[in-house]
Amino acid sequence: LSATEQAVLDEIDEQNIDFLRLQFTDILGTVKNVSIPASQAEKAFTEGIYFDGSSIDGFVRIQESDMRLKPDPDTFAVLPWRKSEDSAAARLICDVMDTSTGEPFSGDPRGVLKSALERAEEMGYDVNAAPEPEFFLFEHDEDGRATTKTNDAGGYFDLAPKDLAQDVRRDIIFGLEDMGFDVEASHHEVAQGQHEINFTYDDALATADNVATFRSVVRAIAAEHDLHATFMPKPIPRINGSGMHTHISLFQDGENAFHDEDDEFNLSETAKQFTAGILAHAPALAAVTNPTVNSYKRLVPGYEAPVYVAWSDRNRSALIRKPAARVPAASRIEARFPDPSCNPYLAFAALIHAGLDGIENDLECDDPVRENIYEFDEEKRAEYGIETLPSNLGEAIEALQADEVVADALGEHVYEKFVEAKSQEYDEYRVDVSQWELDRYLETF
Ligand code: GLN
Ligand code: MG
Ligand code: MG
Ligand code: MG
Repeated sequence: LSATEQAVLDEIDEQNIDFLRLQFTDILGTVKNVSIPASQAEKAFTEGIYFDGSSIDGFVRIQESDMRLKPDPDTFAVLPWRKSEDSAAARLICDVMDTSTGEPFSGDPRGVLKSALERAEEMGYDVNAAPEPEFFLFEHDEDGRATTKTNDAGGYFDLAPKDLAQDVRRDIIFGLEDMGFDVEASHHEVAQGQHEINFTYDDALATADNVATFRSVVRAIAAEHDLHATFMPKPIPRINGSGMHTHISLFQDGENAFHDEDDEFNLSETAKQFTAGILAHAPALAAVTNPTVNSYKRLVPGYEAPVYVAWSDRNRSALIRKPAARVPAASRIEARFPDPSCNPYLAFAALIHAGLDGIENDLECDDPVRENIYEFDEEKRAEYGIETLPSNLGEAIEALQADEVVADALGEHVYEKFVEAKSQEYDEYRVDVSQWELDRYLETF
């Protein structure tokens, strides 16, 4: 056992942990878990825990279904909502291993992100990331089903009594802190019932783990208040949707490789090339960072979500923004298109590969666009050479299929399963008849 593994076993004793939840994420971003009694913890570290991968979305075929979970001891955390005096449960996030080869399983999203980070490391970079996940809190109906009725009518940075959710938000923050999060800020978002909680940046792997954890903590604690928390990108039409702005920076030898004191925007050549890489691959990236039919209801003009492929040092209608940084270490870029329905491991992996591709190919960034791009007409966009994001999931999948860099970022196994699952999802949507159509046409024709 490694020292960290031994430390986890000691914690399990000290904190009276009865059960361990071994977690991993499927290709669609759903957290799966296998529960084991604490007595099996040592074995989990030394031998791993075997499970049948054939029943997990996008994993494997039935005839090659044995998988092994390898817990990452750095991810040990006690679950605050399962804690009492004499008993508690904890979780460990796992890597999924292929039992036939003993190698990391190529269909494990966490492994896909690890490969992206290895490529960055070979180029001399460590990758830091910080997300800003937004979510809505909704009431349940009499049958306990989630509605889209918000429990407050607050708006951006509003205070109580309008912001009725502040108690829930406080409990969510306590829960997150219990699980080791360093929460920086929380506030009511623009839309009614919408919230945002920000936590400190970390290396991209820890941050992806954090996003997966964040979503379950928020949902579990909201449920304790009889509210439904949703990360669906656009639950209510004609008001703001929920994004997951993702801040990224590269560090080299402990220094921020994105910072340049002498540049007008304090951005290094590396940062600009990385940005250019993301812009160049944006349509294909969208399939991964905005992977649901509903994602494209958010990516429309007028609701602070990006639509046009451009960057800016000021305005928020651009796809990438350069936020003001207080200190050189904080220089970073903010990708504003991802939404919280994405699989964070795959989304970060795809963004990182696209950015590194920009560095490797010395891609150049156009000048930042400082005007409100929402107000540009087609002609002006053409003049500035500004492309638009895909307008639906179908177009995004086509863009992904045409983009080798982003397809390769996912690896063959994940790419194939992902495209298959998402094409099917889009086809189901395409043949459905919506309430809007009925309202509009049923009595007209
Ligand atoms: N909710 C907006 C989005 O969809 C972002 C709003 C904000 O953070 N200023 O991205
Ligand atoms: Mg924010
Ligand atoms: Mg926000
Ligand atoms: Mg932001």
